[in-house]
Amino acid sequence: MPATLESPLDILQRVFGYESFRGDQQAIIEHVVEGGDALVLMPTGGGKSLCYQIPALARPGTGVVVSPLIALMQDQVDALTELGVRAAFLNSTQDWRTAREVEQAFLDGELDLLYVAPERLVTERCMELLARGHIALFAIDEAHCVSQWGHDFRPEYLELSILSERWPEVPRIALTATATTATRQEIAQRLNLVSARHFVASFDRPNIRYRIVEKADVKRQLLDFIQGEHAGDCGIVYALSRARVEDTAEFLSQHGIPALPYHAGLIAATRAANQSRFLREDGLVIVATIAFGMGIDKPDVRFVAHIDLPKSVEGYYQETGRAGRDGLPATAWLAYGLQDVVQQRRMIDESPGEDMFRRRLGAQLDAMLGLCETVSCRRQRLLAYFDQAIQPCGNCDTCLEPPQAWDGTVAAQKILSAVYRLWRERGQRFGAGHLIDILRGKPTERVKQYAHDELTVYGVGADLSEQAWRGVLRQLLAQSLLAVDHEGYGTLALTEGSREVLKGERTLMFRREPEKRSRSRSSGTR
Ligand code: ADP
Ligand code: ZN
Repeated sequence: MPATLESPLDILQRVFGYESFRGDQQAIIEHVVEGGDALVLMPTGGGKSLCYQIPALARPGTGVVVSPLIALMQDQVDALTELGVRAAFLNSTQDWRTAREVEQAFLDGELDLLYVAPERLVTERCMELLARGHIALFAIDEAHCVSQWGHDFRPEYLELSILSERWPEVPRIALTATATTATRQEIAQRLNLVSARHFVASFDRPNIRYRIVEKADVKRQLLDFIQGEHAGDCGIVYALSRARVEDTAEFLSQHGIPALPYHAGLIAATRAANQSRFLREDGLVIVATIAFGMGIDKPDVRFVAHIDLPKSVEGYYQETGRAGRDGLPATAWLAYGLQDVVQQRRMIDESPGEDMFRRRLGAQLDAMLGLCETVSCRRQRLLAYFDQAIQPCGNCDTCLEPPQAWDGTVAAQKILSAVYRLWRERGQRFGAGHLIDILRGKPTERVKQYAHDELTVYGVGADLSEQAWRGVLRQLLAQSLLAVDHEGYGTLALTEGSREVLKGERTLMFRREPEKRSRSRSSGTR
């Protein structure tokens, strides 16, 4: 590049007003400024935008940014304009006159950055437009959208490899916060970024303390957690359904914690108002479905709580990653129980589409369950999912209060043989609650109605509490040693793995939660 051009550091300071680069930013920027291709994996909030914005300013021509987040384009362009950067976008929300103006500005060389929606970019009209202008680089944001297995898949992303054919001399930089090796390889291959240099940032968020607790009375547990550890703090509570969001927000408010709901079923004005209050005010808790959070950049979120099990480790990582952006201590708290496993397995079984798709969902859930049930360091397990190896962290629940492992083989055999007998001898299948009643020898109406007190397994599990049995069932389900019946209804059935346990070919070590440090008050009442 000509020596007269400003250095990346100068641009960082003059245009963006920041003192110094973070992490790999400088190396990435220099590589792209010099014309190299790059694949950048960096967690959300890591500072990916500057990695293409600065090269776009440093190189002659316009930086063309492909982004699926149409809703955020206006904000991004406004923010850049405020800094004196000449930026514009092309997407379906604009009228044709505005689009024409943007196109003309591009052709006249008056744009530093041009954001384009992928479905727009791949049109012949847009290709011709680009061919007539001068391009500094292509940035492909949210590059994991090219992965057919991810939940953000965009078919148009598959067509983006055309950029390398048409503009082989223009550097391309693909960016994502999705970090598994498999996704990375898929991106490199599908976007034809084979010779790109990979920049993989650490995904560790050392200031976040990870905690996963056994679910009992979850609203009460949540309240205890907030009052006991985060009174007056700002936080996000994630729930799976709208009804639970509403219900939980109201419960917290009734107990003196200012909380607002956020989900797709609220009218747009309420949603926007709740979001902006959350961003502005201190000490507010937002209870939300996962619809909340894309593009939220509030530095002082002190906790993220999940009252339902996230569907994947990646989702969990993204959501918990919204805590502690300012680097100060923050907590990621998750409550999960037997019902979460039953419900999610059932949802997967009932989801439409190909078997392959369901298997993929199942594998994602398994990884999430593995994180919940691990007896080793949570962070180690979490980062291992992103292929990053670390030592035990000292800042998660299992490091701070190591759980015990206990031999649950016999307990597992009891429960599996109950399932087996009910099915073989009676052709019946039941859910968790009734099975536990049989094992504990509880003469309920249902037990009597079915004469289940005559089964040989009746009462053989009286030595364990109901809570302990729920733990055993949950862990069997987590390990697929027991399955939720395909018919639905949450009834339980044996799997291939169950037989190995029944035959005594397998020893099962389960996690036993450490004794709670008092403050448990009315626990046990449900
Ligand atoms: P990502 O796209 O990776 O989620 P962003 O590019 O939006 O992250 O950056 C997150 C935040 O960090 C933004 O507010 C951004 O201005 C800020 N930031 C990025 N790089 C730096 C830096 N070198 N110094 C200070 N702040 C930075
Ligand atoms: Zn740890």
